[in-house]
Amino acid sequence: IKIKVTKIDVPVSVAAAFEGERVRKDTMFAEFGGNKTPAWELVTTGDLAELEDHKITVIGPDIDDAMFEDGKTVRLPLGILVEVAGKEMQKDFETVLERRIHYFMNYIDGAMHVGQRNTVWIRLTKEAYEKGFRLKHIGEVLYAKMRADFDNVVDKCQVTIYTKKEDVEEIYEERVKPIYVQRDDRMSALTDESVEEFYTCLLCQSFAPSHVCIITPERLGLCGAVSWLDAKATKQLDPTGPNQPVVKGQAIDERLGIWASVNEAVATNSQGAVEKVTLYSILEDPMTSCGCFECICGIMPEANGVVIVNREFSDVSPVGMTFGELASMTGGGVQTPGFMGHGRQLIGSKKFMSAEGGLERIVWMPKELKDDVAERLNKAVKEMTGIENFADMVCDETIAIESEAVLEFLESKGHPALAMDPIM
Ligand code: SF4
Ligand code: ZN
Repeated sequence: IKIKVTKIDVPVSVAAAFEGERVRKDTMFAEFGGNKTPAWELVTTGDLAELEDHKITVIGPDIDDAMFEDGKTVRLPLGILVEVAGKEMQKDFETVLERRIHYFMNYIDGAMHVGQRNTVWIRLTKEAYEKGFRLKHIGEVLYAKMRADFDNVVDKCQVTIYTKKEDVEEIYEERVKPIYVQRDDRMSALTDESVEEFYTCLLCQSFAPSHVCIITPERLGLCGAVSWLDAKATKQLDPTGPNQPVVKGQAIDERLGIWASVNEAVATNSQGAVEKVTLYSILEDPMTSCGCFECICGIMPEANGVVIVNREFSDVSPVGMTFGELASMTGGGVQTPGFMGHGRQLIGSKKFMSAEGGLERIVWMPKELKDDVAERLNKAVKEMTGIENFADMVCDETIAIESEAVLEFLESKGHPALAMDPIM
């Protein structure tokens, strides 16, 4: 085991101990993303000869020269571009390094990081600001941790932080989004049947000790940040790390998605707390949820289907609960039949609760989420059932939230869930 002690030149402490820290409104000084400003983060491979190691650049206003939006809080757009290079670096490693940004940022005393890619949400405390913490220190932390934790593949690392709205938006469209799309396309070519092994992910056990994600090509981790390719790359980068292969073997039940190998992996890694999970059912032994799921799906019995609520949606959903209320009963590493945390990408997967009828069961989603997933969702439902433009049959908060009105809408659209077998 290599023990690395790195001195990071920042005015606050940086340690895994600060990981669970939330920054609430009253202690917050600055905020980025979280639907309030555009924000993204990207790790990409640069040219070894061209990159300048430890070059940290902030382009645009810093937190002390930005305008206060409400007299108390600084809100800025944010683009975090981490460029790495190394003789052993591979493109497939980029997403693994990128996900670590989440952990590295949360190690900072006075910082909170939620989400990933272009859904990041970052807060900094007044206290950190008063101690002298500025945006370049985010660069310092990311630089130091990338070099320390990935020294086998990262020989050079430079960090550029953008805070001008036009930069953040333009670079996103031109450089960042095409990379996200490319990654997703590569992933969507794989199916659960086409691979020999799934992977475990134990990264969230630091706060949900009995939680184990099982990552398959058609079911990414519920944080939305760990795909099967990511898990595979992590195993290569860190052979004894959080992602270990589970050699599938023969399925016990293909419809529910039960494998002896998966049950064994979950039982061992949850220290016996969870003994069996299905990969394709929300009702029978559904996978556990930690706390960082992008979405929660829950049964709406009267509609014979499910509603999905994403983290960014703050209103009450048709099941009578907000995301937060749903999260408090679904999270923590327990199995809650009828409810399940999952990633956005799963909406569009043919394995999405396929044991209960799959994507066709979706009756309601917040509009922002629906628009975001519509293309993939429509394509998958069309391929499976022949139904065109399925997303148009799914209700959202601009149409109705209240149960009866939702049902009325579903009926007017001839939503397929209404004619399916009773969901429970
Ligand atoms: Fe890993 Fe799952 Fe946590 Fe994502 S939610 S980091 S996949 S354990
Ligand atoms: Zn988690």
